Amino acid sequence: MSIEVKNISKSYGNQKALDDISFAVNKGEIVGFLGPNGAGKSTLMKILTTYIHPDEGSAMVNGHDIITEQKAVQLSIGYLPEHNPLYLDLYVREYLAFNADVYKVTKSRIEEVIQLTGLSTESHKKIGQLSKGFRQRVGLANALLHNPDVLILDEPTTGLDPNQLIEIRNVIKNVGKDKTVFLSTHIMQEVEAICDRVIIINNGKIVADKKLDNLFSEN
Ligand code: ADP
Ligand code: ADP
Repeated sequence: MSIEVKNISKSYGNQKALDDISFAVNKGEIVGFLGPNGAGKSTLMKILTTYIHPDEGSAMVNGHDIITEQKAVQLSIGYLPEHNPLYLDLYVREYLAFNADVYKVTKSRIEEVIQLTGLSTESHKKIGQLSKGFRQRVGLANALLHNPDVLILDEPTTGLDPNQLIEIRNVIKNVGKDKTVFLSTHIMQEVEAICDRVIIINNGKIVADKKLDNLFSEN
């Protein structure tokens, strides 16, 4: 099991963002986490990546507990936050090299992730010169640096134009081949384009969990 979530609840003051959430994601699955704005998607992703803690419940990522084994969880995950802070004045390679240092990964891995995310033609530019689609690829490349088993992508295509959208979906499918991918979106077409399975969240509760083939059947 790559991700195991058990009875997680989380409130911000009186606002219940997650209400007794449970599900599991198998190794190698590409799962879409679908729900409208405010449903609780980012909150659950921040809990899985150990940025915030649940009020109740527990979760494991790659067999590691999100509370007692935070470092191991972080090393297992490549995370693309919804609002990825990029340093617009840095060259693509400089930015990746900085993070490669943090993760202690080799320089050749930087070239690998540039290839994997289709950034070769842009890698000599400053991040500020790139289109939104290519900036998202820099975020993806960064998430891939330490070759994590699990990718957690928070609304990776929101705000992209139709061409950029198709390209980044292909990149995600491609880099996700040998990984578990858990990605949030508020667009059903996104799930249909990329995912094997969809977990639907609304008002902090799971309202559906289906394989894509039987999405439109009764069970
Ligand atoms: P989604 O990612 O699906 O848009 P979020 O997890 O961001 O949903 O938000 C779930 C709910 O929790 C929303 O009502 C949101 O306004 C609220 N929320 C999220 N973060 C905070 C916070 N730091 N403080 C207060 N409320 C928050
Ligand atoms: P994200 O969806 O990645 O959390 P947002 O732009 O929605 O990004 O939120 C930016 C910051 O504000 C985050 O730290 C988030 O937790 C917090 N936040 C989101 N919704 C609320 C809210 N209703 N009240 C207070 N803080 C919030």
